[in-house]
Amino acid sequence: MVDSVAEIKAQALAVGFHKVGIATPAVGLATTHLRRWLRLGYAADMVWMANPKRQDLTQVLPGVQAVICVALNYYTPHQHAPDRPRISRYGWGRDYHRVLGKRLKQLGAWLGQRFPDSQNRYYVDTGPIPEKALAQMAGLGWIGKNSTVISREYGSWLFLGEILTTLPLPPDPPHLDRCGTCTRCLEACPTGAIATPYVVDANRCLAYHTIENRASALPPAIVGSMERWVAGCDICQDVCPWNQRFAQPTEIPDFQPYPANLHPTFASLCALSEAEWQQQFQGSALRRIKPEALRRNAIAAFRSFRERSDS
Ligand code: SF4
Ligand code: SF4
Repeated sequence: MVDSVAEIKAQALAVGFHKVGIATPAVGLATTHLRRWLRLGYAADMVWMANPKRQDLTQVLPGVQAVICVALNYYTPHQHAPDRPRISRYGWGRDYHRVLGKRLKQLGAWLGQRFPDSQNRYYVDTGPIPEKALAQMAGLGWIGKNSTVISREYGSWLFLGEILTTLPLPPDPPHLDRCGTCTRCLEACPTGAIATPYVVDANRCLAYHTIENRASALPPAIVGSMERWVAGCDICQDVCPWNQRFAQPTEIPDFQPYPANLHPTFASLCALSEAEWQQQFQGSALRRIKPEALRRNAIAAFRSFRERSDS
């Protein structure tokens, strides 16, 4: 199977992935942070994160013997405008589920032809897969203190995908933690959401509240610290020295920002209609944030921005 690994990795790169590695499906030890995070209630109401399959991949694919982990760099050098609402980089271009899904489907089809006895199932943030732990186990990068996967080549601007396979592939060595004594992300987080290194409390995180929180109003403590973020938050990644030194522009056209996502206006988002939402966020990962939630976020962020500007 060792020769097959080289062939599989070459094929992963040929279909367009930037990084590939193999992990063992025995994720028990690698999900320590996840279990602690769940125990402390830091998952907020994201109940799907507690799905026991996430810690036992044999419940996802019986007979699984290895996980092929892949990553795509999505960084583009564009910057936010100083007085506009801010959308996280992950949502600027085409929906990553589609971009990675297309490549994973190609790779999965090739695996099925090349190894007809194998069973293969792919995921891109779409199932109970501990994808960050697997990425570190496969050597793609390490889980940083800000809880993102950071690579030496691209920083943390990576989308992750996985193929669970019944092929007995030998795993790569896990990536070492390279955060060292750095604490920049903990200091920069405006809400103190990085409760302790490697553990982000979703109850305090702008990314959780702007994307996943379905309440009609955001908590006052969050609103006061929105710093113009209306969809996600990149602060703990923007300050990371690995991103500042090693981020490199992606060549993937699908990840080039749509102008309306890069420089939206408060006026347009605060009054966003269903029809405008349908049009602006077609084929976008931001469709997870429904129009009423985007209006809620934009109105809250605008108020907070105005109050801070006035004081
Ligand atoms: S995404 Fe924003 S709010 Fe959440 S931990 Fe990072 S800096 Fe803090
Ligand atoms: S800012 Fe520093 S501590 Fe935080 S993830 Fe990056 S290297 Fe690690």
